[in-house]
Amino acid sequence: MERKHWLSIWYFVAAFVAITMIQYWMEARHSETIAYSEFKKLLVAKKVHDVSIGDGVISGKLTAEGLEGLLPAAKLQEMKKGGGGDHPFVTVAVNDPELVADLEKSGAAFGGVAQNKWLSTIISWVLPAVIFFALWSFFAKRMGQAQGGLLAIGKSKARVYLQKQTGVTFQDVAGIDEARDELMEVVDFLKNPERYRKLGGKIPKGVLIVGAPGTGKTLLAKAVAGEAGVPFLSLSGSEFVEMFVGVGAARVRDLFKQAEKMAPSIVFIDELDALGKARGFGSMGGHDEREQTLNQLLVEMDGFDTNSGVIILAATNRPEILDPALLRPGRFDRHVAIDRPDVKGRLAILKVHTRDVPLAEDANLEAVAGRTPGFAGADLANLVNEATLLAAKKDRPGVTMGDFEAALDRIVTGLEHKNRVMNPKEKEVVAYHEAGHALVAECRPSADRVTKISIIPRGIAALGYTQQAPTEDRYLLRKTELLERLDVLLGGRVAEELVFHDVSTGAQDDLQRATDMARHMVTQYGMSDALGLATYESPRNQTLLGVQQLPEARVYSESTAQGIDAEINRLLLEAKARVAATLNERRPSLEALAKLLLEKEVVDRAALERLFAPTAMAKS
Ligand code: ADP
Ligand code: ZN
Repeated sequence: MERKHWLSIWYFVAAFVAITMIQYWMEARHSETIAYSEFKKLLVAKKVHDVSIGDGVISGKLTAEGLEGLLPAAKLQEMKKGGGGDHPFVTVAVNDPELVADLEKSGAAFGGVAQNKWLSTIISWVLPAVIFFALWSFFAKRMGQAQGGLLAIGKSKARVYLQKQTGVTFQDVAGIDEARDELMEVVDFLKNPERYRKLGGKIPKGVLIVGAPGTGKTLLAKAVAGEAGVPFLSLSGSEFVEMFVGVGAARVRDLFKQAEKMAPSIVFIDELDALGKARGFGSMGGHDEREQTLNQLLVEMDGFDTNSGVIILAATNRPEILDPALLRPGRFDRHVAIDRPDVKGRLAILKVHTRDVPLAEDANLEAVAGRTPGFAGADLANLVNEATLLAAKKDRPGVTMGDFEAALDRIVTGLEHKNRVMNPKEKEVVAYHEAGHALVAECRPSADRVTKISIIPRGIAALGYTQQAPTEDRYLLRKTELLERLDVLLGGRVAEELVFHDVSTGAQDDLQRATDMARHMVTQYGMSDALGLATYESPRNQTLLGVQQLPEARVYSESTAQGIDAEINRLLLEAKARVAATLNERRPSLEALAKLLLEKEVVDRAALERLFAPTAMAKS
């Protein structure tokens, strides 16, 4: 697609150059322009012949000799450069009733203009138009061939791919066991629908697979179809954002008709976010076609019967921008998350991809897995492929560790641009940062339990994360709880400061959230003694998607604004002091947890409890 755009630009550049050249050529054979008064003088002196009187211009030829005194010297100079003989000229005609009489008197042949002007009109106007049209139709035809094109609406590029047998099984999917287990259930539905129907169980309609690019979402969907032995119909959301309104919607209708005919079957929608962006989100004024297609998808999902045996799988890496309507019960109400794999997972994936690759004795897949934090499945597949190619080039019987290392160097440089690989120093900072969050959370009785800590980068924003799960549903939060949450948010930053005596940009999101929380405490919950019970802001309507709202007009005085700022600062500074005390006291635990993280990259609840058990850290 990219390349085609460039081609089309080249066409226009070529047309532009052609026209410029034509005009330049016309200019070059342009005659000398002289003033009308000079023309009259020349006419009287009988130096003019073959005069044609056109629309507003008079042209003709000058006899070269004896023009001295009749024309300005500069003009004569120029004419001499052009060579001897008759010289063409033009002059702008003025309304001169005596012209014809003078012409007759001079005896020059004269007449109106005919084909001469036609020719120039053709060259300067019609020809460029013809060239443009030719280029346009050529280009349009090319587009047509490529994608159904401008003129052939019916043959749109949005295609549904059908595979009767994907040939992919769960054997081919490694390192993402949790996601695989969840989808195992779907396979079971497809294989034994009767069993579920008998019990009146509701078979899920849609499952949303969420994960970074290359983590194996498509692979997993294909494996589900392969395991269940059902046809796999797939389409890509981005292809459905069509130029012509109604095409996408018609396709979606077709797709579901086909799927139902082949049931049981799997419908897979890749890049659901391209299609299912929240309406009115991101683009001004919305996008009619996308909306129509999305609406059709919703209609189809609601319309078909779960018992028909069609299950829809969709993939996205940006679930947060999806239209909430898509996530409602009866639609994509099941979510399966795929993370980038940890060391163990990476080793498993490497093993899958080296099944048919002869390895040299020194090739150590464990070491390769250890050196590839942040790699997704597709990156690892690519790595194995590159290493194999290198080995083949050297005509070696097996892939050596050296080949893996060379391939790794090459790929890592590419990935570093995408911010997906960390250097060891950064990794250490992130490990201490996350350990800080986790440790503070463990030391605050009302904070949510830490369920998982990870330092596997997840794209540009998050280099690591600490996951906490609430132990119960909460509707009210006490001030002490909010303060403890504040502590947890600052845990990462304070740990960095404590260990490295320096801070990094990695805490930006934490600080933002901490500031927001402190602000809410002061301005909405009346939790600041200095400012009292008055509220200064009403809660923003929290949309699921964080759609930006216009800020409200400020309803308090300048001095109150200063007071609010001071209170927010005080809350944050006090929290920082508390956190520093906590972490200082438990420095050995912090070190131990960071070391464990550096080694394993992911630490779950069980490992955390094992680590802290001897020091009796666990709280009541
Ligand atoms: P996504 O759809 O998430 O962008 P894909 O499913 O298209 O990623 O993955 C691309 C390729 O990467 C797959 O065809 C497979 O070769 C490899 N791959 C990705 N994840 C895995 C995995 N978990 N196990 C084995 N191979 C994987
Ligand atoms: Zn953090």
